[in-house]
Amino acid sequence: MLAVTEKQILDDLNGYEFEELMVDVFRKMGYDDVKVSKKTGDKGRDIIMEGESGNVVVECKHQDKVGRPVVQKLHSAVSTFENCRKGIVATTGRLTNPAQEYADEVSGNGGEEIELVDGQDLREIGESIGLDLYSGKIEVICNESLGYPGQEEIKDRVTHELDDVENFTDNQIDSIDVEAAFIPSFCVDARIDSTFETSVGVISEVHERDKILFTAQRSGPSTMNEQVGGLVSQNLDGTREIDMDELGDEFSDAEIRRFGRTETEYQEWVVERERDRYSHTVRYTGDNNVTYTKECTPNKSDVEIRDVKPFYLPKIKSETSIKRYNYGYECYAAGNDILVDRNDLSQCVHCGSDQGTITFCENCGSLNCSSHIKTERLEKEPVCTGCAVTDQFFLKKKYFYTQQNRDEFQQIYQEMPLYKKPLENKPLTAGAILAILSVAIWMGLNAPLI
Ligand SMILES: [Zn+2]
Ligand SMILES: [Zn+2]
Repeated sequence: MLAVTEKQILDDLNGYEFEELMVDVFRKMGYDDVKVSKKTGDKGRDIIMEGESGNVVVECKHQDKVGRPVVQKLHSAVSTFENCRKGIVATTGRLTNPAQEYADEVSGNGGEEIELVDGQDLREIGESIGLDLYSGKIEVICNESLGYPGQEEIKDRVTHELDDVENFTDNQIDSIDVEAAFIPSFCVDARIDSTFETSVGVISEVHERDKILFTAQRSGPSTMNEQVGGLVSQNLDGTREIDMDELGDEFSDAEIRRFGRTETEYQEWVVERERDRYSHTVRYTGDNNVTYTKECTPNKSDVEIRDVKPFYLPKIKSETSIKRYNYGYECYAAGNDILVDRNDLSQCVHCGSDQGTITFCENCGSLNCSSHIKTERLEKEPVCTGCAVTDQFFLKKKYFYTQQNRDEFQQIYQEMPLYKKPLENKPLTAGAILAILSVAIWMGLNAPLI
């Protein structure tokens, strides 16, 4: 079974459930005696626990924004609670600037300490203790993926890739491991309507409609290249829900990467990208017959986001083990289409060439181009230059599976009749015969006529 961490969507919890979850989080972080306690003189509850320097009071807020009053209230709780110098405000959303400033002020003067944990911090804490905590308040939560092939189909493709390899049969494959990674992605439909005017009137206009496809990883959004974009846009209508149980049965491992930012942040990125894209320089002549140049950049309000669709782009990675070698085969998937991104199964392990015939070396499991495969002298089977044991016979390098084979052939060579030995170096022998013939012909031509 696969080790996919169950994702915990904080948005699905109510306030009480969020507190219970935080009790678990703090326990895993190493705090002692963590418990939920009823607040005195208040309807709410707090988490009380033991830290390194005494008691800690925690205020949990399952909301979009936490302001200064919450932090202030916690500060006074810390001041009055026995043996307590530290308080934590934990929220699934964000903290306002005044809340942040207040906490900094209090913590700065060497007395009590107020720590603020927002949705972003919570995600990082979660990761450090093995919990996948998602908050829709700080990042996109999505469960839709483009269709993807199962591992049996990938295995078929892998074996099919090996069909044309010389000296190879499928039963040489030791194992094929198939993993899936789901890459957070977006399709955004944007419209740009910009008109640039000066005293002479309209000098330029932009009226465009774009479909922007990008991956949305934590390091930031990045536009899909043409090939991936093409694959995706043809199959965008066929999304399906990701089923964790099914993934566990289907692949040896599956990773669902995180979006990392909110939809609004991604939209802002698209607006800036479009403004950049349609920035241009215009030359025009003024009423005074002077030529001017003007930088025309669309305003933010010129870019209208019409449709936003988050989804996952599946990337399937397989590794085929054959003797001493592991071969990668990776592809992006969308519905019934795939785009191969890496294919070690069609190239030489020594030089990377995928030209001409590829031949399998049964001795080590390598795939080889014609210049990296030789004939084993003793057994007359293919052997690669990478694993062969070599020796010189009649000035010619010969290749062997093992030292044992080489020794055996050395014996045979020694016992060979003398006239047979030059055949171990055919080009040299042929050359020598040619040389003798040339001399004979030359002598014939130059022989005296009498
Ligand atoms: Zn090669
Ligand atoms: Zn080999």
